[in-house]
Amino acid sequence: MSSLLSDASQRLQQALKYTSLSEDAIESLKSAKASLSVSIPVRMDDGSLKVFQGYRVRYDDSRGAGKGGVRYHPNVTLDEVQSLAFWMTFKCAVLNLPFGGAKGGITVNPKALSRLELERLSRGYIDAIADFIGPDVDILAPDVYTNAMVMGWMMDQYSIIRRQNTPGVVTGKPIAMGGSLGRDTATAMGALFVIEAMLPKFDRKPQDTTIAVQGFGNAGATIAELLHRAGYKVVAVSDSKGAIYSEAGLDIPSIRQHKNETRALQAVYCEGSVCTVTEHDRITNKELLELDVDVLLPAALENQITEANANNIKAKLIFELANGPITSAADAILEQKGIYVFPDILVNAGGVTVSYFEWVQNRNGLYWTLGEVNQTLQRKMVEETECIWSIAQELSIPVRTAAYVHALQRLGEALDAKGTRNYYTSR
Ligand code: NAD
Repeated sequence: MSSLLSDASQRLQQALKYTSLSEDAIESLKSAKASLSVSIPVRMDDGSLKVFQGYRVRYDDSRGAGKGGVRYHPNVTLDEVQSLAFWMTFKCAVLNLPFGGAKGGITVNPKALSRLELERLSRGYIDAIADFIGPDVDILAPDVYTNAMVMGWMMDQYSIIRRQNTPGVVTGKPIAMGGSLGRDTATAMGALFVIEAMLPKFDRKPQDTTIAVQGFGNAGATIAELLHRAGYKVVAVSDSKGAIYSEAGLDIPSIRQHKNETRALQAVYCEGSVCTVTEHDRITNKELLELDVDVLLPAALENQITEANANNIKAKLIFELANGPITSAADAILEQKGIYVFPDILVNAGGVTVSYFEWVQNRNGLYWTLGEVNQTLQRKMVEETECIWSIAQELSIPVRTAAYVHALQRLGEALDAKGTRNYYTSR
């Protein structure tokens, strides 16, 4: 069992204590509904033929068609894809999206391929799994090392096979091919709505709230900038090479602009012109995680807060933008320390929520403005956050457990609607 799945299963066990899920529903959730392994032959630029392994897993579709990203990475295995599909099942249920959980992947180092090879591989993957997916069956999206361009190829290939334009089979597409406005910033925007809904409960005002962000990529840099613009004091940011800290708060837009221009990581350390913008100290990634701040946002990798460093964490609130940044062993330590953790399946669900909006727009043929996307996202994120917070308060349980309880109740209802042991045995 991957560490991802074993952590998710442990958390599930804790949540099960607070639900009245039928034994049938629990039994149904123990295994993936369908797993497909495929071999994808690709003609390489030098004329040789290479065969890649690909996977698509639909974990559960009791609440709707499967939904989940496609990952290109050398470490992709069927086990990992199944774990991620399991996770997506809960994320979609937390946000009440009419989807089940799915995930896909190809075992490949995409950086070693030319653009044409990458296109042939992406189209080959769709050729191999076309009978397993569809806008009412299983919908794809970007994940690690796949992007809008790859999604566009995939949608195009599926449409060629079906001989009809089928934008709803893939989300995260380029805007010109039926993508949604706001999809690129959706994860960070969703996280902002969760943070803004929760901070007043802790009597926190933006200008008095210090924040550290681990990771300065898609999710991390965007949330840092959104928070900065909303008046929060973002005092530290980091990337894979290290971190910078300024007690007075960093000038995030200029750090981001410099990093975008140079694509060089040292820009984050202000070795170029950004140096002059804000006085700062260089610190390590370990030090960033252990800073005495109000809010910590892990937005880089999994397993960053473990038994080894949980005792040193001083932030009062943690919002997980990354998937799985805290291990289940660390959860217990943070809880004892009175630190509130807002879990990934809620905090970073803005991405899949706007993916849902993209699917809705594709099916209606009527496209939304950016304002409509963000307003609807805000309503959904705030509604579910408040609901999870109430469950946590009523049952006196950690917010993470409350999120699982919330998702399990919805999954249980859908699974039980088809009949339970009680239904069939009672008269
Ligand atoms: P990304 O590749 O754009 O950025 C990752 C960032 O983390 C980079 O800045 C990298 O330098 C940094 N990093 C790597 N190792 C680090 C380390 N040891 N310490 C500090 N920083 C380090 O990825 P992303 O899309 O921003 O995703 C980040 C996390 O958010 C992942 O866990 C991902 O699964 C999750 N997530 C992202 C989205 C999304 O829409 N982008 C949606 C849901 C979840």
